[in-house]
Amino acid sequence: DGLNSPKSMRVILAQPRGFCAGVERAIDIVERALIKFGPPIYVRHEIVHNRHVVEDLRARGAVFVDELDEVPEGAMTVFSAHGVARKVENAAKTRALPVIDATCPLVAKVHAEGRRYAGQGREIVLIGHAGHAEVEGTIGQIDGTVYLVQTVDDAAALQVQTPEKLSYITQTTLSVDDTRGIIAALKARFPAIVGPDVRDICYATQNRQEAVHHLAELVDLILVVGSKNSSNSKRLQEIGAELGRPSYLIDDASHLQAAWFEGIRRVGLTAGASAPEVLVQGVLEGLRQFGQLEIELLAGTPEDVKFKLPAEVAEV
Ligand code: SF4
Repeated sequence: DGLNSPKSMRVILAQPRGFCAGVERAIDIVERALIKFGPPIYVRHEIVHNRHVVEDLRARGAVFVDELDEVPEGAMTVFSAHGVARKVENAAKTRALPVIDATCPLVAKVHAEGRRYAGQGREIVLIGHAGHAEVEGTIGQIDGTVYLVQTVDDAAALQVQTPEKLSYITQTTLSVDDTRGIIAALKARFPAIVGPDVRDICYATQNRQEAVHHLAELVDLILVVGSKNSSNSKRLQEIGAELGRPSYLIDDASHLQAAWFEGIRRVGLTAGASAPEVLVQGVLEGLRQFGQLEIELLAGTPEDVKFKLPAEVAEV
């Protein structure tokens, strides 16, 4: 055969992958607000951590700001899916800004859990990543002491005031396996600590991680569609790498590199909870330049979670 005959590559698509219910709802809120109230709609923080989603909404009249003081008087404002601190809510109230809250209900659930523990007079350990928007929001939703723990070493070194009245909560998009390790380290130090085990990690994060575990058994290389600042997407890439498969986090098909696919026959493809399916399809198209594709769909946990829209945009 000629030198140019393409090799064949099997691509296995993970299930579930891509958008979760919280991301769908958050994007839906901004789209509906743009239709109902007209642009500009101010959004505090990236509505979800995906470059393409943000650019698309920006082109349609959403204005993304880091802080509320960048929002003009009276302008319609949306809080991102990651949630905000109480002081941000209060600042909006003081200025009488019209706000639509796109905080994912599963993030709000963690806030409520933290407030409940604080109400019981417990100090709280938050397992999460420093600087992440959700972590800043969660810390700022709780009146009381919150210690941030990111690693097993942090847990081992942690000093608290009330070891006998201690609790923990977690960020929603952590690695299930790493979090179990951190919880075990906390329990070893503070036997009286109470908490939800890994149940704060949301269903979408758990299901996508489980799918990558499965995928890693079947493929030589894993592609995760998602942005670098997407916590749950990053975890998927790390899990693939930890399981010994070269794993790449890519925003879209333009990031594909020919050298990755030399000698590779089976590619696993998944997407983080904030990555649109159209980008996954774009990556599939992009992969065709490296070989003839045989596409297969992994069996996986079906998802039918759907969250109610806030009243302000329920009817548009
Ligand atoms: Fe909500 Fe989980 Fe999606 Fe985050 S990843 S928006 S917590 S469903």
